[in-house]
Amino acid sequence: MSRSVAELDHEHLWHPFTQQRGWVEEDPIVVERAEGTDLIDVDGDRYIDGTSSLWCNVHGHRHPTIDAAIREQLDRVAHSTMLGLTHAPAAELAERLVEIAPPGLSRVFYSDAGSTATEIALKMAFQYWRQRGGQHARRTSFVGLAEGYHGDTIGAVSLGGIDLFHGAYEPLLFHKHCVPAGDAAALGAVLDEHGEEIAAVIVEPLVQGAGGILVQPPGYLRRVRELCDAHDVLLIADEVATGFGRTGTMFACEQERVTPDLLCLGKGLTNGYMPLAATLATERIYEGFLGEYEEYRTFFHGHTFTGNPLACAAAIANLEVFEEERTLLRIQPKIRLLHELLADVAAMDEVAEVRGRGLMVGIDLGGHDPSLRMGHRVTLAARERGAIVRPLGDTVVLMPPLAISHADLTRLVEITAESIREAVASATPAEVPAIHEERSASPAAQRRDAA
Ligand SMILES: *Cc1c(COP(=O)(O)O)cnc(C)c1O
Repeated sequence: MSRSVAELDHEHLWHPFTQQRGWVEEDPIVVERAEGTDLIDVDGDRYIDGTSSLWCNVHGHRHPTIDAAIREQLDRVAHSTMLGLTHAPAAELAERLVEIAPPGLSRVFYSDAGSTATEIALKMAFQYWRQRGGQHARRTSFVGLAEGYHGDTIGAVSLGGIDLFHGAYEPLLFHKHCVPAGDAAALGAVLDEHGEEIAAVIVEPLVQGAGGILVQPPGYLRRVRELCDAHDVLLIADEVATGFGRTGTMFACEQERVTPDLLCLGKGLTNGYMPLAATLATERIYEGFLGEYEEYRTFFHGHTFTGNPLACAAAIANLEVFEEERTLLRIQPKIRLLHELLADVAAMDEVAEVRGRGLMVGIDLGGHDPSLRMGHRVTLAARERGAIVRPLGDTVVLMPPLAISHADLTRLVEITAESIREAVASATPAEVPAIHEERSASPAAQRRDAA
């Protein structure tokens, strides 16, 4: 008999954000297929996809409209380059994205991951100012938020503010100004002092995802936009996690009527089917790159799979389903239900705080000793009960597909609550801190490799 998937995995694979020593000691779930918002493993066991397969899935797995769109594209061409050629799916998707994006964003530059979308935004901002010349050529630095996350490539990590990831690669990163999220006065102070050297401010609008599902106060994003305008600094909105309905509107920026100069999209763009990302720019930025060939104002960037036709076809179908199923309307009662259910979870002794917007929430279990791997214990307990959840350190994240049914949403929260109880009870009492009294000051201090 051939060797099991688990054996092959343990022998040859290296998983992302994973301490492999722990990984190879556990039996993995081997996913074989999916139906709607359930994942099904090789033994036929079903699990609610409580993380949307890492924050990607929107309308459910194996959605007939999206499946059909990919199959149809497959009968035409699977891949053709955007360097020197074009094709219908890329052009049509660009038109649709411009239609739904905050007004003023008119140009679409494709890539294949959230990290590349933010790298592209940072390079565009940087090069834009260089080409403006004069005083503006001094705008070479960036401002990011503490606990910000923009991906794992070096530029994206440089813009991020998660100590754990920053610490590991510090000498490779470029300097940026880091300001506390939600504090407009702090941003104002940095811009007052260094404004003329700043190319752009990058934010995850409304909710910082990987930093621990940290919610910004209402009005903050609008204020950030105003401060950027006052200092002639560009605003990059990283909606890789918040985009495509996650916070209750198509894009989080809409809720504060903000148009960024650059908008980064990924994850939910193809309903989580294919690796596709996009960086949207205003016409002002785009025009800054126009010139004679020999002026070399070209944007010198592109990936092999930029604008892949299968991925673009999936993304177009994804947007069609938003209309056909009136997804944004139908999630409103689900959001209310989720937040009602979470009120009981927040009152649990084991829970320090519940945070979130829309269908993007974090249940913070407080500052446990990292060796306890409390978040991971919850993951294992939830798995036994039929749900996949994944923590960020000691914060259990719930990020179900927008298509989840009311019944499954209720079950997901119940499973999570029971799993939290079991996980905390499974650690010896002496190990568990009195979380309601002593909270660790910084969420970064609580964040650990969770896998
Ligand atoms: C996931 C994420 C990224 C990185 O996307 P990848 O596709 O993993 O490279 C960037 N920004 C935010 C806000 C994210 O949540």
